[in-house]
Amino acid sequence: MSSDSLLIKNAHAIMTGLPGDAARHAGPDIRVRNGVIEAMGSLTALPDERLIDARDCVVYPAWVNTHHHLFQSLLKGEPQGLNKSLTAWLSATPYRFRATFDESTFRLAVRIGLIELLRSGCATVADHNYLYWPDMPFDASDILFSEGEALGMRIVLCRGGATQGRVIEKDLPQALRPENFDHYMADMERLVRRYHDPKPTSLRRVVMAPTTLLHSAPGAQLREMAKLARSLGIRLHSHLSETVDYLDAARAKFDMTPVQFCAEHDWLGDDVWFAHLVKLLPQEIAILGQTRTGIAHCPQSNGRLGSGIADLLALEKAGVPVSLGVDGAASNEAADMQSEAHAAWLLQRARKGMLAKPRYDGGSFEGGGDAASIEDVVRWGSAGGAQILGLQQSGTVQVGMLADIAIYRLDDPRYFGLHDMAIGPVACGGRAALKALMINGRVIVENDVIPGLDLDAMRHDAMSAVRTMQQRAAR
Ligand SMILES: [Zn+2]
Repeated sequence: MSSDSLLIKNAHAIMTGLPGDAARHAGPDIRVRNGVIEAMGSLTALPDERLIDARDCVVYPAWVNTHHHLFQSLLKGEPQGLNKSLTAWLSATPYRFRATFDESTFRLAVRIGLIELLRSGCATVADHNYLYWPDMPFDASDILFSEGEALGMRIVLCRGGATQGRVIEKDLPQALRPENFDHYMADMERLVRRYHDPKPTSLRRVVMAPTTLLHSAPGAQLREMAKLARSLGIRLHSHLSETVDYLDAARAKFDMTPVQFCAEHDWLGDDVWFAHLVKLLPQEIAILGQTRTGIAHCPQSNGRLGSGIADLLALEKAGVPVSLGVDGAASNEAADMQSEAHAAWLLQRARKGMLAKPRYDGGSFEGGGDAASIEDVVRWGSAGGAQILGLQQSGTVQVGMLADIAIYRLDDPRYFGLHDMAIGPVACGGRAALKALMINGRVIVENDVIPGLDLDAMRHDAMSAVRTMQQRAAR
């Protein structure tokens, strides 16, 4: 954490991530000291204070991404999975390519994903990594944390994996075999001991996150996992109700709804969040709200896979904490938080508009133009994410909070003519250049550049890795 004092001067607009009238702050200046926002208002520079000139820039809380699969950053637009829905895509792309990852390709994929996120103004990523198999030759968890540390990002490792397969184990290649339950639990304890830091300023957290709750482990083991997580003081995460298949599978296997299944196995509560929650019955929404179980909304992946659009309005009204996640780049070729926020803004409106009926047929509204404001989307993508991840001191731009701040430079013609510059980074789509991104008060991106990073070399490495992995997958 920086011990220097830094002054962000003359911001054109400030979004805070807070609800209601507090969603914007007049500023125009923000002082950061010892990694924390010390003052906001009209401030005079102190002697020797570092200045960031934010004229013509807008300030946002740095984004909190609550669901990613960083390893998929080398699986973008994979042709066999490009035009498929979830289940067929899973077999065609992420599962078919599992065994093609080695230490160097995994590391490269993680690095690419983190850099895409950083360049969109994201400080925190919850990576739901499910690339684990018995006798794996590299330590994926350690690579995630070390790559995050090298870039100064906040990493929440959601330790995925499965202790049961959907097909007979002897037919599976090694990389698709389930882990032994005792080994999974022992590894969770190891990860928490080694990496988990519960402090508010923490850059490392660990979460219990079997890949998909209905299929990854037998019910009795899920209960044990929840118990261990709570005894270790860590959170719980998984995929749930991404498509109608979840409703069908829960009915066929357990004669329950997916959310009922979670309730039966102690997998609901304000320490639990699920990715997707696209297909829910009204009674399931009510239970999620009563238990304050959260959602990582992934509109671009849900769109790309044709899964649907989660009903954030109903979920939030019921009391569900809402956050945004980009999901893996194998089902989202725009895996950055500005794109995700832009999609969330449009799609909640489109979703509501789709329900509009003509008045002669009982319709009562014209469309969904009032469904989600830019301020709502910013709040979901920042404060909402921090709440869900239990990061009490990040996610908003206000005095006393950690300085996780994105300063966007709206100097592209895309933003010329805007009546309200503050909405630019979400409303206009594309990527606004960063004047600066700071995490815990430390400047990580400066004038849109990450110092020391050779993007050309990385592009070449990525192209060669894709070729190698295609050859390995074809074998
Ligand atoms: Zn996912």
